[in-house]
Amino acid sequence: MTTFGLPAECGRLIEYDTAADLQELRNAGMLKETMPIGGGSNILFTTGRFNGTVLHCNNTTVNINRSNSSGAVEVYAAAGCNLDMLCAMTCAEGLWGMENLSGIPGEIGGAAVQNVGAYGAEFRDLVKHVICFDPSTGNETTIENADCRYGYRDSVFKHPEGKNLIVTGVVLALSPTPKPNRNYAALAAAFKDTADEKLTPTDFRNEILRLRTAKLPDPAIAGSAGSFFKNPVVSAQRHREISARFGREIPGHIVPAESSDVTEPDVKLSAAWLIDNAGCKGFSQGGASLWPSQPLVIINTCGQATGEDVVALEKRIIQTVRNVFQVELSPEVIHI
Ligand SMILES: Cc1cc2nc3c(=O)[nH]c(=O)nc-3n(C[C@H](O)[C@H](O)[C@H](O)COP(=O)(O)OP(=O)(O)OC[C@H]3O[C@@H](n4cnc5c(N)ncnc54)[C@H](O)[C@@H]3O)c2cc1C
Repeated sequence: MTTFGLPAECGRLIEYDTAADLQELRNAGMLKETMPIGGGSNILFTTGRFNGTVLHCNNTTVNINRSNSSGAVEVYAAAGCNLDMLCAMTCAEGLWGMENLSGIPGEIGGAAVQNVGAYGAEFRDLVKHVICFDPSTGNETTIENADCRYGYRDSVFKHPEGKNLIVTGVVLALSPTPKPNRNYAALAAAFKDTADEKLTPTDFRNEILRLRTAKLPDPAIAGSAGSFFKNPVVSAQRHREISARFGREIPGHIVPAESSDVTEPDVKLSAAWLIDNAGCKGFSQGGASLWPSQPLVIINTCGQATGEDVVALEKRIIQTVRNVFQVELSPEVIHI
């Protein structure tokens, strides 16, 4: 049930459809020591054993509501709905918003927790609200976008206040009128001669799928959890210091400041560049290795890796980058 394809066992696996199922499980005392799983595309079972209960939502319901007075089209998707399937469906319906997220593995519940992002778009840009089951009260609750506290691969669902919530569905607000997101340079270049009105979301989806295939391993061929590390964010002063020590400017993007009081915005460094330039190319450990065309990805080389191999390789990469750049990498992948 994970895209890494590592051997892993759990105490119990429960698949459910609705909040009523979760209520019944709670009443039977079966929602203790649980861990929700979606497509398992961002999870690493470090020891190969989780003694608790893994919960998976089988509900893939999608409802499209075009009669919204705000002009946006509201799309409800249950937590078990496949993210890329929803991208394909909404693009085919002519709705804008999801196209840049095409090709990301996983399910809607996981996307809402992780705030997935790619090619200049993030899931939070689309979320109206997230519907959750709260095992502590036994009730379903709706969390508005602003209260999801979305950040870079972050949300309230990853912090103590929201960690115990089980996402059962999401309502997205999509645009029926053209709203192409050309923020990513390769997309801007691909469509530079085409006016917005001449484009369809499926044009963008197809281009994104083409770009992704060239860069990322297909989990069916080489198990992985996508980008293993987050791009580290440092202060502008720190960026100057490490660039001076390295002898040339370390590539990075300015992070737009959230407040006007900030005089110098932070800089997001490329973890892939740091890993490459720290000399990690070709690193492997047991059955785990770095993906040659994207050093941010750790793969299960011949399907023989264990969680321990991946953790040992992760530690070696973090240590090497620390030694060369004095920058601390942190994993995007959730460790269980
Ligand atoms: C080849 C590849 C490419 C990838 N590319 C990208 C990319 O471009 N951008 C990007 O952002 N990510 C990318 N990822 C990472 C991954 O696909 C996303 O993080 C995805 O959203 C995870 O969804 P999932 O359903 O697989 O979640 P899982 O991995 O199953 O779970 C992730 C977390 O969410 C929690 N969770 C899952 N479902 C629920 C629920 N219903 N209620 C509460 N908590 C829940 C889990 O407990 C866990 O903490 C990639 C992964 C792979 C393998």
